[in-house]
Amino acid sequence: MKVIIVGATHAGTIAATEILKIHPETDVTIYERNNNFSFLSCGISLYLDGQVNRLEDMFYSSPEELRDLGAKVEDNHDVLQIDAVNHEVQVANMVTGKVFTDTYDKLVMATGSTPVVPPIFGIDNAKVLLCKNYQQAQEIYQASEKYHRIAIVGAGYSGTEFAEALAKTGHEVQMFQSGGQILDNYVGKQMSDSIVDMLAQHGVEIFLNHRVTGFNGDSEGNLELETAGGNYQVDAAIVTSGFVANSDLLHGQVEVEKHGFLLVNGHMQTTNPDIYAAGDCSMVRFNQLVGQPIPR
Ligand SMILES: Cc1cc2nc3c(=O)[nH]c(=O)nc-3n(C[C@H](O)[C@H](O)[C@H](O)COP(=O)(O)OP(=O)(O)OC[C@H]3O[C@@H](n4cnc5c(N)ncnc54)[C@H](O)[C@@H]3O)c2cc1C
Repeated sequence: MKVIIVGATHAGTIAATEILKIHPETDVTIYERNNNFSFLSCGISLYLDGQVNRLEDMFYSSPEELRDLGAKVEDNHDVLQIDAVNHEVQVANMVTGKVFTDTYDKLVMATGSTPVVPPIFGIDNAKVLLCKNYQQAQEIYQASEKYHRIAIVGAGYSGTEFAEALAKTGHEVQMFQSGGQILDNYVGKQMSDSIVDMLAQHGVEIFLNHRVTGFNGDSEGNLELETAGGNYQVDAAIVTSGFVANSDLLHGQVEVEKHGFLLVNGHMQTTNPDIYAAGDCSMVRFNQLVGQPIPR
Protein backbone atom coordinates (compact mmCIF):
# COMPACT_ATOMS: atom_id res chain seq x y z
CA MET A 1 0.00 0.00 0.00
CA LYS A 2 1.44 3.36 -1.00
CA VAL A 3 0.25 6.42 0.89
CA ILE A 4 1.08 10.01 0.00
CA ILE A 5 0.61 12.67 2.65
CA VAL A 6 0.47 16.31 1.54
CA GLY A 7 1.49 18.73 4.30
CA ALA A 8 3.24 17.97 7.56
CA THR A 9 2.43 20.31 10.36
CA HIS A 10 0.03 18.57 12.74
CA ALA A 11 -2.47 16.54 10.70
CA GLY A 12 0.23 15.24 8.34
CA THR A 13 2.76 14.50 11.07
CA ILE A 14 0.22 12.60 13.16
CA ALA A 15 -1.17 10.74 10.13
CA ALA A 16 2.34 9.55 9.18
CA THR A 17 3.22 8.60 12.75
CA GLU A 18 0.03 6.62 13.33
CA ILE A 19 0.11 4.84 9.97
CA LEU A 20 3.73 3.78 10.48
CA LYS A 21 3.21 2.71 14.08
CA ILE A 22 0.16 0.58 13.30
CA HIS A 23 1.12 -0.57 9.78
CA PRO A 24 4.92 -0.26 9.57
CA GLU A 25 4.96 -2.05 6.21
CA THR A 26 3.16 0.89 4.54
CA ASP A 27 5.07 2.85 1.93
CA VAL A 28 4.53 6.44 3.18
CA THR A 29 5.74 9.51 1.29
CA ILE A 30 5.31 12.97 2.77
CA TYR A 31 5.47 16.14 0.66
CA GLU A 32 5.81 19.39 2.60
CA ARG A 33 6.66 22.76 1.11
CA ASN A 34 8.38 24.03 4.27
CA ASN A 35 11.56 22.62 5.75
CA ASN A 36 10.22 22.25 9.28
CA PHE A 37 7.46 20.00 10.62
CA SER A 38 4.99 20.21 13.52
CA PHE A 39 5.32 23.88 14.48
CA LEU A 40 2.84 24.78 17.26
CA SER A 41 1.36 28.17 16.36
CA CYS A 42 -0.14 28.43 19.86
CA GLY A 43 3.43 29.00 21.07
CA ILE A 44 3.83 32.28 19.19
CA SER A 45 2.07 34.46 21.75
CA LEU A 46 3.74 32.51 24.59
CA TYR A 47 7.10 33.27 23.01
CA LEU A 48 6.17 36.93 22.54
CA ASP A 49 5.34 37.39 26.21
CA GLY A 50 8.31 35.36 27.42
CA GLN A 51 6.52 32.26 28.75
CA VAL A 52 8.41 30.20 26.19
CA ASN A 53 12.13 30.93 25.86
CA ARG A 54 12.86 29.38 22.49
CA LEU A 55 10.58 29.26 19.48
CA GLU A 56 12.41 26.06 18.50
CA ASP A 57 10.82 24.37 21.54
CA MET A 58 7.50 24.62 19.69
CA PHE A 59 8.26 21.57 17.53
CA TYR A 60 7.47 18.04 18.63
CA SER A 61 8.62 16.20 15.49
CA SER A 62 11.01 16.65 12.58
CA PRO A 63 11.73 15.26 9.10
CA GLU A 64 14.51 13.13 10.69
CA GLU A 65 12.14 11.60 13.24
CA LEU A 66 9.64 10.65 10.54
CA ARG A 67 12.42 9.21 8.38
CA ASP A 68 13.48 7.09 11.35
CA LEU A 69 9.91 5.76 11.55
CA GLY A 70 10.22 4.68 7.90
CA ALA A 71 8.61 7.52 5.96
CA LYS A 72 10.08 8.93 2.77
CA VAL A 73 10.16 12.61 3.69
CA GLU A 74 10.32 15.24 0.98
CA ASP A 75 10.47 18.67 2.58
CA ASN A 76 10.84 21.74 0.34
CA HIS A 77 8.46 20.00 -2.05
CA ASP A 78 5.28 21.67 -3.24
CA VAL A 79 2.37 19.58 -4.53
CA LEU A 80 1.10 21.42 -7.60
CA GLN A 81 -1.72 19.17 -8.80
CA ILE A 82 -3.68 16.11 -7.79
CA ASP A 83 -5.33 13.83 -10.33
CA ALA A 84 -7.84 11.83 -8.31
CA VAL A 85 -8.92 9.71 -11.29
CA ASN A 86 -5.41 8.45 -12.07
CA HIS A 87 -4.16 8.54 -8.46
CA GLU A 88 -1.32 10.90 -9.38
CA VAL A 89 0.25 13.97 -7.84
CA GLN A 90 2.47 16.48 -9.59
CA VAL A 91 5.21 17.78 -7.33
CA ALA A 92 7.85 20.53 -7.58
CA ASN A 93 11.17 20.18 -5.81
CA MET A 94 11.52 23.76 -4.57
CA VAL A 95 15.31 23.53 -4.34
CA THR A 96 16.11 22.16 -7.80
CA GLY A 97 12.96 23.33 -9.60
CA LYS A 98 12.40 19.82 -10.96
CA VAL A 99 8.73 18.88 -11.45
CA PHE A 100 7.77 15.20 -11.37
CA THR A 101 4.77 12.89 -10.97
CA ASP A 102 4.21 10.40 -8.18
CA THR A 103 1.38 7.89 -7.66
CA TYR A 104 -0.58 6.72 -4.63
CA ASP A 105 -3.07 4.10 -3.51
CA LYS A 106 -4.33 6.37 -0.73
CA LEU A 107 -3.81 10.10 -0.32
CA VAL A 108 -3.99 12.10 2.93
CA MET A 109 -4.69 15.80 2.49
CA ALA A 110 -3.17 17.63 5.43
CA THR A 111 -2.63 20.94 3.67
CA GLY A 112 -4.14 22.97 6.50
CA SER A 113 -5.03 26.62 6.23
CA THR A 114 -3.43 29.94 5.33
CA PRO A 115 -3.99 33.37 6.87
CA VAL A 116 -6.50 35.42 4.92
CA VAL A 117 -4.69 38.19 3.07
CA PRO A 118 -7.23 41.01 2.68
CA PRO A 119 -7.02 42.51 -0.80
CA ILE A 120 -6.23 46.01 0.42
CA PHE A 121 -3.71 48.61 -0.63
CA GLY A 122 -0.29 48.24 1.03
CA ILE A 123 -0.82 44.72 2.37
CA ASP A 124 2.59 43.86 0.88
CA ASN A 125 4.36 46.50 3.02
CA ALA A 126 7.28 44.81 4.85
CA LYS A 127 5.92 46.09 8.17
CA VAL A 128 2.58 44.33 7.66
CA LEU A 129 2.94 40.82 9.03
CA LEU A 130 0.91 37.64 8.78
CA CYS A 131 0.92 34.87 11.29
CA LYS A 132 0.76 31.08 11.12
CA ASN A 133 4.03 29.30 10.52
CA TYR A 134 7.51 29.28 12.06
CA GLN A 135 8.97 31.81 9.63
CA GLN A 136 6.12 34.27 10.20
CA ALA A 137 6.46 33.76 13.97
CA GLN A 138 10.14 34.74 13.74
CA GLU A 139 9.22 37.87 11.78
CA ILE A 140 6.62 38.88 14.38
CA TYR A 141 9.08 38.35 17.21
CA GLN A 142 11.74 40.45 15.46
CA ALA A 143 9.16 43.20 14.88
CA SER A 144 8.15 43.09 18.55
CA GLU A 145 11.80 43.54 19.55
CA LYS A 146 12.22 46.49 17.21
CA TYR A 147 8.90 48.34 17.34
CA HIS A 148 6.82 49.84 20.11
CA ARG A 149 3.43 50.71 18.63
CA ILE A 150 1.89 47.69 17.00
CA ALA A 151 -1.52 47.39 15.35
CA ILE A 152 -3.49 44.17 15.32
CA VAL A 153 -5.90 43.96 12.39
CA GLY A 154 -8.72 41.56 13.20
CA ALA A 155 -9.86 40.74 16.71
CA GLY A 156 -10.38 37.01 16.52
CA TYR A 157 -8.67 34.40 18.66
CA SER A 158 -5.08 34.94 17.51
CA GLY A 159 -5.40 38.73 17.29
CA THR A 160 -6.67 38.93 20.84
CA GLU A 161 -3.94 36.57 22.02
CA PHE A 162 -1.27 38.75 20.37
CA ALA A 163 -2.79 41.93 21.83
CA GLU A 164 -2.55 40.39 25.30
CA ALA A 165 1.05 39.22 24.81
CA LEU A 166 2.25 42.52 23.35
CA ALA A 167 0.51 44.59 26.03
CA LYS A 168 2.20 42.43 28.69
CA THR A 169 5.59 43.22 27.20
CA GLY A 170 5.09 46.98 27.33
CA HIS A 171 4.03 47.61 23.73
CA GLU A 172 1.47 50.17 22.74
CA VAL A 173 -1.22 48.01 21.14
CA GLN A 174 -4.08 49.15 18.95
CA MET A 175 -6.55 46.51 17.79
CA PHE A 176 -8.82 47.19 14.81
CA GLN A 177 -12.00 45.24 14.24
CA SER A 178 -14.47 45.76 11.39
CA GLY A 179 -17.54 44.70 13.39
CA GLY A 180 -19.06 45.83 16.66
CA GLN A 181 -17.51 43.18 18.88
CA ILE A 182 -14.37 41.08 19.24
CA LEU A 183 -13.99 37.27 19.17
CA ASP A 184 -17.25 37.05 17.24
CA ASN A 185 -16.81 33.36 16.38
CA TYR A 186 -16.53 32.50 20.07
CA VAL A 187 -18.54 34.78 22.37
CA GLY A 188 -21.61 37.01 22.33
CA LYS A 189 -21.67 40.79 22.55
CA GLN A 190 -21.97 40.93 26.34
CA MET A 191 -18.92 38.74 26.91
CA SER A 192 -17.05 40.64 24.19
CA ASP A 193 -17.77 43.93 25.99
CA SER A 194 -16.27 42.52 29.20
CA ILE A 195 -13.16 41.33 27.38
CA VAL A 196 -12.80 44.71 25.64
CA ASP A 197 -12.91 46.37 29.09
CA MET A 198 -10.31 43.96 30.45
CA LEU A 199 -8.00 44.52 27.50
CA ALA A 200 -8.45 48.30 27.87
CA GLN A 201 -7.44 48.02 31.54
CA HIS A 202 -4.22 46.41 30.28
CA GLY A 203 -3.60 49.28 27.89
CA VAL A 204 -4.93 47.79 24.66
CA GLU A 205 -6.76 50.39 22.61
CA ILE A 206 -9.61 48.74 20.71
CA PHE A 207 -11.26 50.28 17.68
CA LEU A 208 -14.55 48.53 16.94
CA ASN A 209 -16.34 49.22 13.65
CA HIS A 210 -13.00 50.27 12.14
CA ARG A 211 -12.44 48.28 8.97
CA VAL A 212 -8.86 48.73 7.81
CA THR A 213 -8.94 49.75 4.16
CA GLY A 214 -5.26 50.32 3.43
CA PHE A 215 -1.67 50.55 4.68
CA ASN A 216 0.29 53.62 3.61
CA GLY A 217 4.06 53.47 3.88
CA ASP A 218 6.47 56.31 3.18
CA SER A 219 10.16 56.47 2.25
CA GLU A 220 11.11 56.97 5.92
CA GLY A 221 9.53 53.65 6.87
CA ASN A 222 6.46 55.06 8.63
CA LEU A 223 3.27 53.05 8.45
CA GLU A 224 -0.22 54.49 8.47
CA LEU A 225 -3.41 52.48 8.74
CA GLU A 226 -6.36 53.78 6.78
CA THR A 227 -9.70 52.91 8.35
CA ALA A 228 -13.31 53.90 7.88
CA GLY A 229 -13.01 55.88 11.14
CA GLY A 230 -9.74 57.71 10.46
CA ASN A 231 -6.02 57.12 9.92
CA TYR A 232 -3.57 55.84 12.53
CA GLN A 233 0.25 55.89 12.71
CA VAL A 234 1.85 52.67 13.90
CA ASP A 235 5.30 51.07 13.74
CA ALA A 236 4.09 47.71 12.42
CA ALA A 237 0.86 45.76 11.94
CA ILE A 238 -0.07 42.12 12.38
CA VAL A 239 -2.98 41.01 10.23
CA THR A 240 -5.08 38.32 11.91
CA SER A 241 -8.25 38.43 9.91
CA GLY A 242 -8.93 34.72 9.67
CA PHE A 243 -7.80 31.61 7.87
CA VAL A 244 -8.78 29.92 4.64
CA ALA A 245 -8.63 26.17 3.99
CA ASN A 246 -5.95 25.00 1.54
CA SER A 247 -8.21 22.73 -0.45
CA ASP A 248 -7.87 24.09 -4.00
CA LEU A 249 -5.95 21.04 -5.19
CA LEU A 250 -9.11 18.97 -4.83
CA HIS A 251 -11.76 21.45 -5.95
CA GLY A 252 -14.00 19.81 -8.50
CA GLN A 253 -12.74 16.35 -7.51
CA VAL A 254 -14.32 15.83 -4.08
CA GLU A 255 -17.16 17.47 -2.19
CA VAL A 256 -16.15 20.79 -0.66
CA GLU A 257 -18.10 22.78 1.94
CA LYS A 258 -19.10 26.36 0.98
CA HIS A 259 -16.14 27.93 2.86
CA GLY A 260 -13.68 25.58 1.13
CA PHE A 261 -13.29 22.82 3.72
CA LEU A 262 -13.03 19.25 2.45
CA LEU A 263 -16.00 17.28 3.73
CA VAL A 264 -15.09 14.01 5.42
CA ASN A 265 -16.99 11.12 6.98
CA GLY A 266 -16.36 9.47 10.34
CA HIS A 267 -13.28 7.73 8.89
CA MET A 268 -11.89 11.07 7.66
CA GLN A 269 -12.55 9.99 4.07
CA THR A 270 -13.54 12.62 1.55
CA THR A 271 -16.21 11.79 -1.00
CA ASN A 272 -13.43 10.01 -2.91
CA PRO A 273 -12.76 6.88 -0.79
CA ASP A 274 -9.04 6.88 -1.68
CA ILE A 275 -8.54 10.42 -0.42
CA TYR A 276 -8.57 11.25 3.27
CA ALA A 277 -8.38 14.72 4.80
CA ALA A 278 -7.59 15.93 8.30
CA GLY A 279 -6.87 19.11 10.20
CA ASP A 280 -7.61 22.67 9.11
CA CYS A 281 -8.34 21.78 5.46
CA SER A 282 -11.19 19.47 6.46
CA MET A 283 -14.56 19.68 8.10
CA VAL A 284 -16.17 16.80 9.92
CA ARG A 285 -19.86 16.73 10.83
CA PHE A 286 -19.89 16.59 14.59
CA ASN A 287 -22.86 16.42 16.91
CA GLN A 288 -21.86 17.60 20.36
CA LEU A 289 -24.86 15.89 21.93
CA VAL A 290 -23.87 12.53 20.48
CA GLY A 291 -20.18 13.28 21.05
CA GLN A 292 -18.89 11.69 17.88
CA PRO A 293 -18.63 12.40 14.15
CA ILE A 294 -21.79 11.64 12.21
CA PRO A 295 -21.07 9.25 9.33
CA ARG A 296 -22.13 10.57 5.93
C1 LIG B 1 -1.57 32.21 16.42
C2 LIG B 1 -2.26 30.87 16.42
C3 LIG B 1 -2.59 30.27 17.62
C4 LIG B 1 -3.22 29.02 17.64
N1 LIG B 1 -3.53 28.45 18.82
C5 LIG B 1 -4.13 27.24 18.86
C6 LIG B 1 -4.44 26.61 20.09
O1 LIG B 1 -4.15 27.15 21.17
N2 LIG B 1 -5.07 25.41 20.05
C7 LIG B 1 -5.39 24.80 18.85
O2 LIG B 1 -5.94 23.69 18.86
N3 LIG B 1 -5.11 25.39 17.67
C8 LIG B 1 -4.50 26.58 17.65
N4 LIG B 1 -4.22 27.18 16.45
C9 LIG B 1 -4.66 26.50 15.22
C10 LIG B 1 -3.65 25.45 14.78
O3 LIG B 1 -2.41 26.05 14.54
C11 LIG B 1 -4.16 24.77 13.52
O4 LIG B 1 -5.41 24.20 13.79
C12 LIG B 1 -3.17 23.73 13.06
O5 LIG B 1 -1.97 24.35 12.64
C13 LIG B 1 -3.74 22.91 11.92
O6 LIG B 1 -2.80 21.95 11.56
P1 LIG B 1 -2.83 21.30 10.11
O7 LIG B 1 -1.74 20.28 10.10
O8 LIG B 1 -4.20 20.87 9.77
O9 LIG B 1 -2.53 22.46 9.09
P2 LIG B 1 -1.36 23.62 8.96
O10 LIG B 1 -0.80 23.86 10.31
O11 LIG B 1 -1.99 24.69 8.21
O12 LIG B 1 -0.29 22.85 8.10
C14 LIG B 1 -0.49 22.52 6.76
C15 LIG B 1 0.86 22.20 6.14
O13 LIG B 1 0.65 21.81 4.79
C16 LIG B 1 1.67 22.37 3.98
N5 LIG B 1 1.13 22.50 2.62
C17 LIG B 1 -0.01 23.14 2.24
N6 LIG B 1 -0.21 23.00 0.92
C18 LIG B 1 0.82 22.26 0.45
C19 LIG B 1 1.18 21.78 -0.83
N7 LIG B 1 0.43 22.04 -1.91
N8 LIG B 1 2.31 21.05 -0.97
C20 LIG B 1 3.09 20.78 0.12
N9 LIG B 1 2.80 21.20 1.37
C21 LIG B 1 1.68 21.94 1.53
C22 LIG B 1 1.95 23.73 4.62
O14 LIG B 1 3.24 24.19 4.29
C23 LIG B 1 1.81 23.39 6.11
O15 LIG B 1 3.03 23.01 6.69
C24 LIG B 1 -3.56 28.39 16.41
C25 LIG B 1 -3.21 29.01 15.18
C26 LIG B 1 -2.58 30.22 15.18
C27 LIG B 1 -2.20 30.86 13.86
